[in-house]
Amino acid sequence: MAKGYMGKLLIVNLSERSFREESISDDVYQSYLSGTGLGVYYLYNNIPQGTNPMGPDNLLGFMSGLMTGTGSVMTGRWSVVTKSPLTGGWGDANCGGNLSIQIKKCGYDGIIIGGKSLKPVYLYIQDSTVTFCDASHLWGMDAIDSERLLLEENKNKGNTAAAVIGPAGEKLSLISGISNDFGRYAARSGVGAVMGSKHLKGIVLKGTKKIESNDPKSIRAISKEYIEKIKNAKLPGMVKGSMLPIMGHLTGTQKTYGPMDGMMTASAMKKWGTIANNTMGIPNGDNPVKNWGGSIRDYSWRYYRSINPDKIINREIKKYSCYSCVIGCGGICDVKNIDAIKGDETHKPEYETVNAFGPLLLNNNLESLFVINDMLNRGGMDSISAGNTIAFAIECYENGLIDKAYTGGLELHWGNVESIIVLLRQMIAREGVGAIFADGVKKATEAIGVESQAYAMHVGGQEPGMHDARMDPILGIHYAADPTPGRHTIGGGMYYNIMHLWDYVSWAPKVTKGSNKADDYLASDEIGLKSAANACIKQVLDGSGGCFFAMASGFNHWRLFDYLNATTGWHMTPDQYMKTGRRIQSLRQAFNIREGVNPMDNALNNRLAGNPPLKEGPLAGKSIPIGEMMKKHFKYMGWDENGIPDINS
Ligand code: SF4
Repeated sequence: MAKGYMGKLLIVNLSERSFREESISDDVYQSYLSGTGLGVYYLYNNIPQGTNPMGPDNLLGFMSGLMTGTGSVMTGRWSVVTKSPLTGGWGDANCGGNLSIQIKKCGYDGIIIGGKSLKPVYLYIQDSTVTFCDASHLWGMDAIDSERLLLEENKNKGNTAAAVIGPAGEKLSLISGISNDFGRYAARSGVGAVMGSKHLKGIVLKGTKKIESNDPKSIRAISKEYIEKIKNAKLPGMVKGSMLPIMGHLTGTQKTYGPMDGMMTASAMKKWGTIANNTMGIPNGDNPVKNWGGSIRDYSWRYYRSINPDKIINREIKKYSCYSCVIGCGGICDVKNIDAIKGDETHKPEYETVNAFGPLLLNNNLESLFVINDMLNRGGMDSISAGNTIAFAIECYENGLIDKAYTGGLELHWGNVESIIVLLRQMIAREGVGAIFADGVKKATEAIGVESQAYAMHVGGQEPGMHDARMDPILGIHYAADPTPGRHTIGGGMYYNIMHLWDYVSWAPKVTKGSNKADDYLASDEIGLKSAANACIKQVLDGSGGCFFAMASGFNHWRLFDYLNATTGWHMTPDQYMKTGRRIQSLRQAFNIREGVNPMDNALNNRLAGNPPLKEGPLAGKSIPIGEMMKKHFKYMGWDENGIPDINS
């Protein structure tokens, strides 16, 4: 019976230039789904304990989603899985684009790459045939030009998709990522460095296999219903980008909350994409400012009006969507008149990039954000980690821990956009003082000294996403307790209110109108249950290939559980799927434990947890008892109080 998945992995060894197929049993899919779940199942069992993440024994997996290509919508995401050189533990990164469908069309649910090539290489995979191709001519080339050339070289072979690294990955930057679709990134966990360590510049995929599901008719019906809802989701015509700060102010001052309708989120995503949050989050405290130590007082309306999302989409010439997406949060922008950008078009900057190089650095130069975004996309560096690292460098400079002699002449002051751009260029090229900062905040503290740790915003070695846990404490639990720490895409209190999980999952606490916001700052059982629910459902999502923003439109609209049953024929209940999500999360955690990561070491540092709290702005007086909250989370994940799971239970 067709079940959506392809039933096998492609295993490639770069040292031996060999490849083989490995069949995966139905039981494994039912226990771990596909995507990240299948990835952690395979890597946990095949990466030896203590493996050097940059050595030939580390494995790098490109994983498709269980529902990708089945007729379901919003299910074209793919994941990279590996042992992370950034944290020393489990590593994964999730990405949109058009790679996921080609992995499956080649006949696989994932491509697992081990060994190390002596010379730069790229893989051309056509259905079940792998060709090892010389990539010397691409080594040193930026990610966008490399992908273009790879597709050009292989265009006679039909529809293809490619994933590549840029110079940052080649130079083994621990904050480098992997790109597809000319700037769509699997950016986290240092996955680009693992690819660079294998001298693997890219993979090109061309498949012709059919993907079948158990009940295509039901899938079509679910898709039709969702597409209709998305079509009808519209913001009132009078809502303009300039009004978003008012909405931010109102949400920031509310003392209570209730369930939310995800179609509001979907309509904002349709109009602006993720940048909808760039000015809304300043007045409500969601957006970190001045290396997480500032507030709206430092980045006032006079600054943030320059990043009004309307000003960004003024340059948008077309919408961009990942495979099977019906929201289309991405955009391609016209940058003909920006000389510093090569070419006429570039991806619209995402929320994370705008915030990490805007408010976080007190930069309000909009044009520079397009330039920086293009540099990151071409160079192949994670915008979240890079922005946090430059914020750290500036704070070290402003406080005299490093000086002009140390920086090679760069004056690293807040908002000094010329210096910010030069430092980023040097980080990507691992040149000059950029070599100190090319591996992220934690590594840089080792070079600058122990005093700099006070300015180092990282969680377990990884820099946090651009959402403040002092505004949404459940988000802070995920920063600290996820096996890939610092991740903003696991969930949060607001997303919990949108998902409506309580309508499906027996143990998910129901959110009612008038819920007290102050209760979110307590290490309560309810908070532990909500964060555990977020963590479990996110693993179901990543195993399915689903998009976070589909989840953020609510399961009452995007019917994930029905989709999964129609795809596989398993007839599992939402509770059973949540158990599957918990199993995946437990194995990700077990990987960390095996590699010597102490989960409690990943608690947020004092500044990130609001200890002491800020004195002004929307987060004034806010702090979170993160250690106690982590323990509640572990309890409802079924782990012991130190975060150690029993994967045999
Ligand atoms: S909403 Fe955005 S990230 Fe999600 S699938 Fe669509 S284009 Fe990709």
